[in-house]
Amino acid sequence: MSQQTSLPKYEIYAIRYAHLEKRTRKDNFISTDAHDGAMPMDFFVWLIRSPERTVLVDTGFGERAAKERQRQLIKCPIASLEVLDITPESIQDVIITHLHYDHAGNLDKLPNARFHIQEAEVHYACGHHMCHGVFRHAYDVEDVVTLVRNVYADRVVFHEGDTALMPGIELALIGGHTKGLQSVRVHTARGWVVLASDASHYYDNMHNISPFPIVYHVGDMVDGYAKLQRLADSPDHIVPGHDPLVLRQYPRYDAKQIDIVKLHEPPSLV
Ligand SMILES: [Zn+2]
Ligand SMILES: [Zn+2]
Repeated sequence: MSQQTSLPKYEIYAIRYAHLEKRTRKDNFISTDAHDGAMPMDFFVWLIRSPERTVLVDTGFGERAAKERQRQLIKCPIASLEVLDITPESIQDVIITHLHYDHAGNLDKLPNARFHIQEAEVHYACGHHMCHGVFRHAYDVEDVVTLVRNVYADRVVFHEGDTALMPGIELALIGGHTKGLQSVRVHTARGWVVLASDASHYYDNMHNISPFPIVYHVGDMVDGYAKLQRLADSPDHIVPGHDPLVLRQYPRYDAKQIDIVKLHEPPSLV
């Protein structure tokens, strides 16, 4: 479409900051089959940039959460930005896909950022569903409180539903996993790439239409798999939130950086 030719073509980097080795297939799907086995989990933040703009998607967790939840913190995701020649002070826009502990920590390390989040996610994280352990388990109350403090400091931008955030960067409300989870659609040289975040933790969740067990609404989660397909230029343009295959499929930022890959270039089949 002619309108798209004028859109910026962003670079997108997936930055792995943590890992969980001891995880099996039955931990990652509501319904399991007889083929249970190891299925480790990676943890990412994503960096979108063009010559004009830099946008961080999610902020990861810190040492306290890693210790409490026994995750292997590889490197603080905010500190990792230095590899891309980005200082934390220079980040002005951060998209928070949802407020789970592994996506919304470290907010205090971004002193000049505005945080873009779905209104439904903040309501969910502060509302009556958090009376139940099954829903609040993946939230860290300190992160939620920090986000609320930022609301009072005029540093949170609330979005309601699908929104064009800036030219070539769109927010897509999917819900399902949490009430207000948003995925991020980004225009690149290879077309529209969709950062699913936890709308699909692994490729297998969306490919097999097999929901992840941490879920607010199973129907919205399953509908979300179809929405991801609609938003992306092809199945190879959808990037799941936690799949170790992402690091194996996409080209590295440079040979020394095993934890940073380029999502604006095509994946190779593994
Ligand atoms: Zn999550
Ligand atoms: Zn997650």
